[in-house]
Amino acid sequence: MTKPLTSAPSTRELRPATRLVHAGTLRSQYAETSEALFLTQGFVYESAEQAEARFKGEDAGFIYSRFSNPTVAMFEQRMAELEGAEAARATASGMAAVTATLIGQLKAGDHIVAAKALFGSCRYVIEELLPRFGVSSTLVDGTDLGQWRAAVRPETKVFFLESPTNPTLEILDIAAIAGIAKSAGATLVVDNVFATPLLQSPLALGADCVVYSATKHIDGQGRCLAGVILASEKFINDHIHTYLRQTGPSISPFNAWVMLKGLETLELRVERQIANAAKVADALAAHKAIERVIYPFRDDHPQAELARRQMKAGGTLVTFEVKGGKEAAFKVANALKITRISNNLGDTKSLLTHPSTTTHQRFEEDARLGMGIRQGMLRFSAGIESADDLIADFEQALDKAL
Ligand SMILES: *Cc1c(COP(=O)(O)O)cnc(C)c1O
Repeated sequence: MTKPLTSAPSTRELRPATRLVHAGTLRSQYAETSEALFLTQGFVYESAEQAEARFKGEDAGFIYSRFSNPTVAMFEQRMAELEGAEAARATASGMAAVTATLIGQLKAGDHIVAAKALFGSCRYVIEELLPRFGVSSTLVDGTDLGQWRAAVRPETKVFFLESPTNPTLEILDIAAIAGIAKSAGATLVVDNVFATPLLQSPLALGADCVVYSATKHIDGQGRCLAGVILASEKFINDHIHTYLRQTGPSISPFNAWVMLKGLETLELRVERQIANAAKVADALAAHKAIERVIYPFRDDHPQAELARRQMKAGGTLVTFEVKGGKEAAFKVANALKITRISNNLGDTKSLLTHPSTTTHQRFEEDARLGMGIRQGMLRFSAGIESADDLIADFEQALDKAL
């Protein structure tokens, strides 16, 4: 029998499409083709001496699945190589990744600056949870570099943002904000969910840490929750490693296996989703019932130039506004037959949500308008169906809203 591996050869010199399929693969003594699912809590040792050596870190190998697990390790290495990061840690959900990344770096007396336009739960962590432990926060208009500069205090430790933002698809200048963070002595954490690892590389733009909800495009088939934190070895060792081990927001090996297999088809799915999103955006823009279409690579996007500089493509989401406010938006949503109403995104199935009454319901109307979220607005997450079918479906639904 060949000895089972505890580390896989690097694929970093290869292209992303190859990394997505091969990076991180650990084969057991059976030399299986597909990655094995190690659904085990713990590991047995050959001897008491081996257990001692493993706990001392002198013997490579696994100890306990709250710390690490071969299937989870394969997912982490595949993510690290895809992102071009030195290290990765997987978590039970995207929010577990965000929370660990922030709590792992901050202590009472520290200050965090974040863009206002954030995934709702990220705003809860920053505005409500962290202050309970003595961490203060300032929210800024992320597109205004002056506001980032003005928010810095001597005790500022972390900058946090997402780009493109949800649901208005604004583009934040990651390289410029990373520069401001650096001169403030703060780290920059980027929630890169909307761009996916394929379209935007925040670490290369100067960010210190990237987080994902792998629930979205990485699974991409609506099955499991997962999160990932990517950064340098030093960042992970200083801020993340011990926090995760001791507090336990660990991913199930089963979910990690689903994500690992999801990664194999990520590029194929995202390429189709981008093509569908771009075609649907253009078709929507041509319809009389539409007030406005927001898609980062369309020439009428206010930051199209920055989007093209920072991202390889316009992404898989399209936000649009129908004439006639909430009533018209609901008519369109209810009349669609292929695109289904759901707040998830990045799925193979096309999905649509009305942000004002769902993901951003808890905000006052004024606060929502301040974020650019209007009652006629709908967010479309492109699936991998036929673009022609999706467009025909939108046309019949929009006709009903006229
Ligand atoms: C979904 C999402 C999250 C949270 O991820 P979960 O896996 O649902 O916990 C965080 N940020 C963004 C931008 C998201 O879309």
